[in-house]
Amino acid sequence: MKDPFLITKEEVLKFLQPVNPITHKGLQGHAVIIAGSYGKVGAAVLASKSCLKSGCGLVTVFVPKCGYQILQISIPEVMVITDENTNFLTSIHLPLVPQAIGIGPGIGVELGTQKALFEFLRVNKSPLVLDADALNIMAENLTWLELVPENTILTPHPKELERLIGKWNSESEKFQKTIAFSEKYKVIMVMKGAPTYIIIKTEIYENTTGNAALATAGSGDTLTGIITGLLAQGYEPKYAAKLGVFLHGLTADIALPKTGYESFTASTIIKYLGKAFLSLV
Ligand code: AMP
Ligand code: MG
Repeated sequence: MKDPFLITKEEVLKFLQPVNPITHKGLQGHAVIIAGSYGKVGAAVLASKSCLKSGCGLVTVFVPKCGYQILQISIPEVMVITDENTNFLTSIHLPLVPQAIGIGPGIGVELGTQKALFEFLRVNKSPLVLDADALNIMAENLTWLELVPENTILTPHPKELERLIGKWNSESEKFQKTIAFSEKYKVIMVMKGAPTYIIIKTEIYENTTGNAALATAGSGDTLTGIITGLLAQGYEPKYAAKLGVFLHGLTADIALPKTGYESFTASTIIKYLGKAFLSLV
C-alpha cells in the first residue's frame, strides 16, 4: 500500500476558491438534497442545512410528502419539492438540472425507493454524492454504479463500505478492495472513520482533522450536505471531497473545548461550519 497523502490546511488552501465580491446567488451553485422518509426527515434537515452553510447559492430539498412542513419550518432558506408518496420516495423527478445532487440520508430501502433511485440514476447528469441508504441499495445492485457520472463521490461508513466491497481480513486488504472498487467504477471513495481516508483510483488521502465527538447521530448526513454544497459551487469532485472532509472534522476540533465530547451533536457541526471556514483564511 502506498503512503497516504495528508489532507492538511496547507493542502486545502491550494484549491480553496476565493469569494467573488460581485457574485450573486445564481452564480454560487444550486444544489439538490434528496433525503428523508417517515421518522427520518431529520436527515434531510441536517444535510440540507449543512449544504446551505457550505456556501452554495440555492438549495432545493426533495423529500416524501411527510417532510414538507418540517423542512419549510426548520429551514426557511431552502426550497422544498415533494415526492407523490407520503412516507418514502417513489419517483424522483426534478424540474431543474442542478450543479450537484446529494442523495441517500434517511431514504430507507423500500422497494419503491429502490426503483425510484434506479430511474433517477438513469436520467441524472448532475455531479453526485451517494450516501447512506443510497449506498445500501446500490450494494445490492452494483451494476447501477455504471450509470453514475465519473468521479461520483461515495461516502460509506465502515458497515456501508463492507456492504459495497465485501468483508476484509486486514487493513491492507480493505484498502486494496476499495482501490479496486474506485478504479472499476471510476468513483471517489470517502472511507469515513477515525481517520477518514479518500480513495481516488490508486491515490490515498488521509484526513488530519476530526475527533471522537463526530461519532454521533446525523454526523455523516452533514458531511453529505457539505460535500454536495462544495460540488455545486464548482469544486472538482476530488477537491469537494477533500475540503468537505477537512471542514467537517475541523468543526469538531474547534467546538470540542466548548461542548465536550458528550454534548457535541450533528447540529454542532452545522453551527461551527462558519468558524471552520474562517479558520482557513
Ligand atoms: P455516519 O456514520 O454516516 O453518521 O458518519 C460519521 C462521521 O463521523 C464520519 O464523517 C466519520 O468519519 C466521523 N467520525 C465518527 N467517529 C469518529 C472518530 N472517532 N473520530 C473522527 N471522526 C469520526
Ligand atoms: Mg451516515
